[in-house]
Amino acid sequence: AGEIQAQDVDSLKVHMPPCMEHLHNEMRREKHLKHWGRMQYGLFLKGIGLSLEQALIFWQMAFEKLTPDQFNKQYAYNVRHSYGMEGKRTDYTPYSCRYIIQNNAPGPGDRHGCPFRHFSAPNQRAILAAHDVDDFDTEDIMSLAQGKHYQIACTRYYEVTRARMLGITDNLKGGSIHDGEGNVGMVASQESIEHPNQFFEQSFLLMK
Ligand code: SF4
Repeated sequence: AGEIQAQDVDSLKVHMPPCMEHLHNEMRREKHLKHWGRMQYGLFLKGIGLSLEQALIFWQMAFEKLTPDQFNKQYAYNVRHSYGMEGKRTDYTPYSCRYIIQNNAPGPGDRHGCPFRHFSAPNQRAILAAHDVDDFDTEDIMSLAQGKHYQIACTRYYEVTRARMLGITDNLKGGSIHDGEGNVGMVASQESIEHPNQFFEQSFLLMK
């Protein structure tokens, strides 16, 4: 990914997987994110091309209830740290799906995690409904998630929502999008989603 600017992030939300879209929406709503949310989302943004300089602008603007001085004292260090510019200078990489699914399960007030793994069924349904996923696909995705096939659920979500974004849903209704053959290949590579940044990059390239 090329370099992106802090003010571009909102317009890129359309390509984000549900875990990151949720973090973005909650960050905008609450003007804040707790530690693991900042880590999960911040490293994802780093992965899509947000530089350290732009990340500092992005987070300071997002936490708009804080003065610049408060932001610098409380959060700037951690942003620099995640870009390998402080402490042990570890250049952290964005978390994979497997990591997000298996580590740091969200507690009350946390917004991070994988929706297919960590969200309640009503909240999962709300995400699908917000993206106009039809009843057939909703039940399919829900049963994959309930069967602990979280990344396959996300892959189905990717296929269904990208088909809609490309405007080919109607052509495929009751057809190949549902039986997993043929035209699905236009929407996704045949691989399952392994990484939030892979979801983003595939979607971004698909819509170019
Ligand atoms: Fe995010 Fe991966 Fe879960 Fe999809 S499967 S919502 S990309 S963590």
